[in-house]
This record gives sequence, structure tokens and C-alpha cells, in this order.
Amino acid sequence: MDNIRPKAFHLDKDITTCINPDVLREGTLERYGDLHIQTGGKFLPTWHTSYTSQALPFVIPRMVSGPDYLNEQRWRRVYDDAPEVSPTEFMRGFARRVEAQVAHDMTAIPIVRSNWFQYTLQKTGAFLAPYAAKRGEPENNTANEFIEAAKSLFKHLHKGTTGSGKQKMPIAGDTTRLPYANGLTPLERRLAWSMHFMCQNLPGVQQLRQLMGHAQFGARIVYGDCIFITVSPNSQHSALVLRLCRTRRNDPSLSADDGNMTEWLHKIAKKDFPLLEASEKDTHEVMLPDYEVRRVCGAREPLAVVDAYHVTMRLRLARLLGVRMCPNCPRCNDASISKYPCQDKFGSNMMPMGGVLGGVDAFGSATEFQSTNDPHIHGEVHIVCIYQFSTLEEIANEIKKKLLDPKTVFDFNAWLHREEPFNPTRLVVFFFFIIRNVCINLVTLFL
Ligand SMILES: [Zn+2]
Repeated sequence: MDNIRPKAFHLDKDITTCINPDVLREGTLERYGDLHIQTGGKFLPTWHTSYTSQALPFVIPRMVSGPDYLNEQRWRRVYDDAPEVSPTEFMRGFARRVEAQVAHDMTAIPIVRSNWFQYTLQKTGAFLAPYAAKRGEPENNTANEFIEAAKSLFKHLHKGTTGSGKQKMPIAGDTTRLPYANGLTPLERRLAWSMHFMCQNLPGVQQLRQLMGHAQFGARIVYGDCIFITVSPNSQHSALVLRLCRTRRNDPSLSADDGNMTEWLHKIAKKDFPLLEASEKDTHEVMLPDYEVRRVCGAREPLAVVDAYHVTMRLRLARLLGVRMCPNCPRCNDASISKYPCQDKFGSNMMPMGGVLGGVDAFGSATEFQSTNDPHIHGEVHIVCIYQFSTLEEIANEIKKKLLDPKTVFDFNAWLHREEPFNPTRLVVFFFFIIRNVCINLVTLFL
């Protein structure tokens, strides 16, 4: 695989490229000539421990590894005291394996995750448990009913509508609206509700958006009015991503590139590069590799991008806002998880001196992946101020009583929403260079 692998392979907006890793794999191999593969007619069981190493022979070259599925006879690790690795634990551990072929393979982790998703969805008892067959009825009848109901739901998901008259709306693939579809049979509606309930506990589905909305709405009731923030870190300009790249220094994959790239990759594989603090000589300059190396690192080590994002949000952003936050937040409030919760007795996370926006009681946010494959957040910050809980009438009364000076609010907002450049001279110089470069390019184009 050369270093011009795509950073994000779903940019063509075709959903099948996201969910069908073998098509992607085939496309990648096509570039290297014809590949003849002979397959047997027997299907392999997906939910068997050996499947992972059978499906990914280049990633796991020997027949080892794989999760332990429930009710499955143990394939490896057969000793009494051998640990049991659940599909969830296996997926988490697999993403953190240090061998370069695991992280650098474009499809290995998506395949493992896709298997985990299907297994969790289909093998969770909650989904079909309430639908026991009638006593004495042939099993095939019940199975056929479910298959027909699922087919009909699929049709409704893409072609169906909700509401009537002026409120009639197409469902257009939104699974959160599927249980309300017009013309469902009672069985179909129950199935749609079961699926809706199940999905609230699975990552990456539409139902989570609803849950996030409910959580943020609840936060606004408890913590009062808020300001809305968006933070978009760029993984290609992040030294943290380079720091969190995990590769062994003698991994053969690091030597496959040309000289300059290999040199940098070996340097980045060290555990202390780049330095997070200033060196002993107290210089504040850290030499970073050029853009191309950073881009390759971000593309090859997606886990480093996610880890760097978490450090940025849970450590840097929380520190900027003056909020206590830990890796377990908000679950650290549960005494069984942590003895030292981040919230005080009154439910506030604010540090005594506040942060750059003043005192912040709490903030909540949701992660979204942009089309460049970089995670970013949208969130709400609850600033301690008169607008937090007061009505407009109460605020007006405070102004009349001269207890609140409106100018302080204007000044705060002018500072918070600052749109003029911090350094006008540098901006002029910047524009001058842009115009100059455009002119040079135009001239070379026509000469
Ligand atoms: Zn915490």
C-alpha cells in the first residue's frame, strides 16, 4: 500500500462503500494486477472465534485471536482459568493492537466493528424475546411472518409516510420515524418499536441523536440558558496526533516508504516525539514533520486521531472553560466508578476561578464526524450570568434598579464574538501574499 491512500474513503457519498469492506479491498488489490482466488461453496460461520483470522489473513497471519461468542465451544484459550474475551472487548483491544498492519489496514477495523454491530443487534435477547411463537404452531410460519414484516418495514423506511393531510411527511430513511409510519400492521409496528429501543444502545445510529437532544434539553432546564459552541480540530495540523501514533520502531512497514518519510516515521514511532513540554533548554520550538508526513500519519492511524480529539476536548477545552473534567465524566459521579467525582454537591463542575468565558457551571457536547473524517463537537456551555435563569422582565428590573449595567453585557459579547483580526497588519501582509500567488499562477497558466 503506498502512502497516497485516501484519508477518508467514503467521500464519494456512496453508502455501499462504507458498509461493504470487501468491495473496498477488491478495489485496492485491483491496482496491483489480476488476483485469482478460488473459493469453496461452503459458507464460513461469521460468529465463530476463528472467523477474524480467516477473513483477515494479511492482518492476523496465523490462526489465532478472535472473540469468544456466547454458547460457542471455545476454539482457543480452552483452559479453565483462561480469560473470556467478549466481542466488545475484542473490538476495543483490536483497535489498540500495536502491529502496523492492524492500524494501517483500511478495512480490518471496519470489518471487526461491522461484525460486532451485527452480532450485538441480532443476538441481543431484547429484540425478539417478546415474540414467542404460539404453542403448537410450526416454527416456519412464525419465521415467515417476521421476514414479511421486516421486508414491509424496509419498504416503508424508504417509500412510507407519517401523519396525514398537511402534516404528511415522507420518512425518507429516518429510522426514528419508522414506528409512526402509516399503514403498518400491529406486528410491524411492534418490530419497529423494538428496533427503535435497541438502537438507543448502539453507537452510530440515528436514535442516538434523539437521546443527545433529550440530554441537552435536560441540561438547559437544570443549568439554565447557554451559548452554543463548535470546535473543529484538524488532525493534519495536530502534534498530538503524531504523539499518539503507536507503532513499534522496528516494524517493517515503517521502512517501506522513501527515505525522508521513513526517517520521520521512525522518529514519530518513538514514545516521546514530539515533546509535549518545552525541553530543558527552555526553547519553545518543536520541529514537526512537513504536511505530507502529518497527513500520512493521520490516515494510517485513525485511533491516534480519535485519541488526540479526546485529549483536546476533555483536557484542553475543559481547562479553557474552567471546568473540572476527567476521562470518566460524567460517570465519575457514580461512587462505584470513582471516589473523586468532578461535580460538587450542587452538581456544578466549575473551577473556583472560572475559565476564559467566565464561570461555567457545566458544558455538554456531542461528537460528529466531518466529511474529512475528523471528529468535531457541537456543544452547549452554561455560563454563570444573569441570562442563565432570569426572565427578560427580571433583567429589565435589575437594569432599572441600576444593579446591572447593560454596557458590561455588550462589552462581554463584543469580546466573545470578536470578528475583527487580532493583528490587522499581519492580515494585510497575508492578503498581499495570496493575491501575489494568484497573479503568478495566472501568468504561468497563460504563458
Ligand atoms: Zn469526571
